Amino acid sequence: MRSLLRRCTKCGAYTLSKEKCPRCGGPVKVPHPPKYSPEDKYQRYRILQKLSTGALPVREETKERILKDLLGGP
Ligand SMILES: [Zn+2]
Repeated sequence: MRSLLRRCTKCGAYTLSKEKCPRCGGPVKVPHPPKYSPEDKYQRYRILQKLSTGALPVREETKERILKDLLGGP
């Protein structure tokens, strides 16, 4: 449902309006999160930690695939 949400380019307010910001009347556009956000980085570490402590109940091959994905292996 991300496409329903718009963000004012003027004041930065989030709105469901497609035309203009209800707060300041400025133009709105669909907000796109940055490709690499800090949250993604932390999530990666959380997953790595869970994998290494065995908190994530996955099979060995799944674990290897996740590790390869996360660490950007060949
Ligand atoms: Zn605004």
